[in-house]
Amino acid sequence: MDMSKQINVDLVVVGGGPGGYTAAFRAADLGLAVCLVEQRSELGGVCLHEGCIPSKTLLHAASLVAMAGQGREYGIHFSKPDIDVAALCQKRRQVTGQLSRGLDTLAAARKIIRINGTGFFADSNTLQVTGNESVSIGFQHAIIATGSSPFMLPGLPDDPRIWDSTAALSLENIPERLLIIGGGIIGLEMAQVYHALGATITIVEMLDHLIPPADRDIVQPLFLQLKKKKAYRIFTRTEVTSVEAEKEAVTVSFAGKKAPQTANFDAVLVAVGRRPNSKGLGLADIGVSLDRRGFIQVNNRQQTSIPHIFAVGDVAGEPMLAHKATHEGKVAAENIAGKDVVFAPKTIPAVAYTDPEIAWMGLTEQEARARKIPYDKGKFPWGASGRALSADVATGVTKALFDPESGTLLGAAICGAQAGELIHEAVVALEKGATASDLSQTIHAHPTLAETFAFAAELVDGSITDALPQKKKK
Ligand code: NAD
Repeated sequence: MDMSKQINVDLVVVGGGPGGYTAAFRAADLGLAVCLVEQRSELGGVCLHEGCIPSKTLLHAASLVAMAGQGREYGIHFSKPDIDVAALCQKRRQVTGQLSRGLDTLAAARKIIRINGTGFFADSNTLQVTGNESVSIGFQHAIIATGSSPFMLPGLPDDPRIWDSTAALSLENIPERLLIIGGGIIGLEMAQVYHALGATITIVEMLDHLIPPADRDIVQPLFLQLKKKKAYRIFTRTEVTSVEAEKEAVTVSFAGKKAPQTANFDAVLVAVGRRPNSKGLGLADIGVSLDRRGFIQVNNRQQTSIPHIFAVGDVAGEPMLAHKATHEGKVAAENIAGKDVVFAPKTIPAVAYTDPEIAWMGLTEQEARARKIPYDKGKFPWGASGRALSADVATGVTKALFDPESGTLLGAAICGAQAGELIHEAVVALEKGATASDLSQTIHAHPTLAETFAFAAELVDGSITDALPQKKKK
């Protein structure tokens, strides 16, 4: 007997992460009756519960440990940190809880109908929800915002010492020897956390440098900084060939020039990317098309192959970033509410919250070379920045690429403290078509880390005085 209740709404949103809740909130503000379906009891998705936010709380703890270590040079001596992992977990829960309650308040104030359960498209106008609540939702429009899950390498043993990023964030156990497979953003952020908690870290990356989408010269200061620390071993161009869960340790074999043949670890974090959560929703039956990798195909209004069903965020394609999801969520909601808008950013910035941080946006140099796009480059080393030296963060570089004809900014990348904050000036400059001389003439406060971006522009427009002018290319 089907006891499920039946409701009808203008819009049902499936998934309560940043893409889903943003879409739901915007649609409600534009006057639609909205139902938001989420399988967790709380809103926020992976970002809030197992991703961006908890990792940043733990990374802040790691930076406190690192900063205490740097005190010595300033004549301030701290004793070895005494780390209470339970208290750290409590802080992480407190931050997540506060944000999650904030989302509850925002949803309630907008009179959004919240359903706690798992959605399935029974047909192209009905979402069936099972789980805590059993509801049949008739809708005019739907937005799919079901996110992504960690990709696990095939053939790994089923063992509690083999982690995905969710397990790594739980801090249930601090291993002595941690292997991280994948030198991408998750791998490096977690390396930083576990290093601060006392683990020795081995990172293996298949490609030729860490964080491969960023230019090698931008990642190099981070790489060298990590290499200097005894607790790190990093092997690029290396693959794992076998993982055996033995009683005493996890034994891993590698194929790579410099890596050992085999080594033992107390835990292994697999951070080799994520895959879209597009299975189990009944999408094939209702005719929503997926691409080869399982992403839902959408147009620039976020419409799927069924025009009244939209998709946003990780499930709708790369880059899998919360800030891309929220913007797509707004575009979907606005189109459903009858506005004429498209998702057409000139760039989506990317940030690795490592120490030093890495941030980039727009064209990278490796892309420019591959696509034979001409550019002028300004690269300002932080060793020449008064602010960076004073704060002992001179390991860094700011790079900006400009169009040789028009002088407009094409791309920028920063390695250094606060890079994730600093990159946004470049994002605005790119969106607004600023040129090297616009940026040089924009007065930046001194001494700041932000002025390194203006210096990079001055290097290109020839007005630099804080370094020697670059020789003009003939
Ligand atoms: P990623 O794609 O950023 O990095 C995975 C890395 O693993 C790549 O460098 C890849 O070359 C390497 N790799 C793949 N297979 C391998 C193998 N068999 N052996 C060794 N190396 C291998 O993926 P991620 O770090 O897992 O992150 C997943 C997603 O989450 C990404 O889209 C990322 O942008 C997002 N994310 C973003 C942030 C942030 O914005 N700060 C933080 C965490 C995650």
